[in-house]
Amino acid sequence: MSLAASPAGVQRTRRSLDKALMQLRAERVATLQVNLGRICNQACRHCHVEASPSRTELMADAVVDACLSVLERHPQIATLDVTAGAPELHPRFREIVEHARHLGRSVLVRHNLTVQAEPGHGDLPDFFASRKAELVCSLPHYLAEATDRQRGPGVFAGSIRGLRALNAVGYGRGDGLPLTLVANPVGAFLPPHQEDLERDTREHLKRQHDVTFDRLIVITNMPIGRFADWLERTGQYDEYLDRLERAYNRQTLPNLMCRTLLSVGYDGRLFDCDFNQMLDLELAGRCPQTIEEFDMAALAERPIRVGEHCLGCTAGSGSSCGGALT
Ligand code: SF4
Ligand code: SF4
Repeated sequence: MSLAASPAGVQRTRRSLDKALMQLRAERVATLQVNLGRICNQACRHCHVEASPSRTELMADAVVDACLSVLERHPQIATLDVTAGAPELHPRFREIVEHARHLGRSVLVRHNLTVQAEPGHGDLPDFFASRKAELVCSLPHYLAEATDRQRGPGVFAGSIRGLRALNAVGYGRGDGLPLTLVANPVGAFLPPHQEDLERDTREHLKRQHDVTFDRLIVITNMPIGRFADWLERTGQYDEYLDRLERAYNRQTLPNLMCRTLLSVGYDGRLFDCDFNQMLDLELAGRCPQTIEEFDMAALAERPIRVGEHCLGCTAGSGSSCGGALT
């Protein structure tokens, strides 16, 4: 089936998608992922959110309140996943984390490590530890040159300082404060085998920087946002999509994150995942479209809006916020 038959809003229509992918449905909402805005202290080359210090979008108070209210009313949503930009730069970030923890939910923060150096954020490691937040921290590669090429000069060194501060309060030591690193290819290719890169990264960071972590996951660079622009500029877009298409793996479908996650934009609109949010692909069918209209019965088994970009999640071992899928 061609993408020409897929929902409006999908820009590219040249690829064929597996019928099983086109018929994808959610199976429950176990994670509410809230995107607090586009502001970030970094401006990485691969950023699918196109975040940067010059962006100004932030989740409004009414939307924050609606997200917390949904969490209160639906105990089956076990995890609040907090992302952005740099979510810590939202003025209500700490209140949101505390509220969710008070409700007994797991809180996962997508933390870029260098935001700890921003004014007023030096105590983030203590805050995270005291609230027992799970941290998922991006570090494209264990070599400084590769990470700085993608994230900007000095980002690797700042990330190592951030990791040391987290280790100092107990993160990444296997005793209840989980620290996951996220690596992604620094270029237009698929990620390496997760276990091999985890082993190499663990050895290198311990030996060279005396830094430890619990787990490393690899993610595929999604062909959207700044990364898609870069692929287009360098004439690699079609080649990259061909690579993803050739590596399509149907075994990834049962574990795709959109099957158990619902994404909330800073403006309160609902999406199947952060990627669909960036592509402005609203929920399909007659689903509620905003967090204020949240209806678990309508959302739990909703049809998923898929497109060409989904080849990034389904290539090879698969890719998700939790790493490889098979
Ligand atoms: S990839 Fe992450 S750290 Fe980099 S600009 Fe985007 S949101 Fe910020
Ligand atoms: S991009 Fe990935 S997570 Fe999002 S709808 Fe497609 S397969 Fe699901």
